[in-house]
Amino acid sequence: MKKKAVSHSCTECGGKMAYVEDIKFRGYLLEGLRCKKCGEEEMDLEQVGGIVRLERMKKKETLMAKAYKSGNSMSLRIPMALAKAFGIEPGEELPITTKGHTIEILA
Ligand SMILES: [Zn+2]
Repeated sequence: MKKKAVSHSCTECGGKMAYVEDIKFRGYLLEGLRCKKCGEEEMDLEQVGGIVRLERMKKKETLMAKAYKSGNSMSLRIPMALAKAFGIEPGEELPITTKGHTIEILA
């Protein structure tokens, strides 16, 4: 996730905008800005676009992650819409947990 510099004021009331990671959109949590005074929110538009594309893909097909050998590790390639929806940046390290046959990546 990328933290953005908060430089502008609220378009509704002129209050200060703060960076947040808990804006709710279609069941996802988005990054963006929230006015400290009136609560007006500005969502990360890349994430919104990713969520819209991801939901469209999920209706048509099962999402797949392809495994590639990468040195002594494996790389998993995921759809770009999924990365965008969760604000995952290239080079970012994400914690993984496992349970039974499930691998969970915390984005
Ligand atoms: Zn405001």
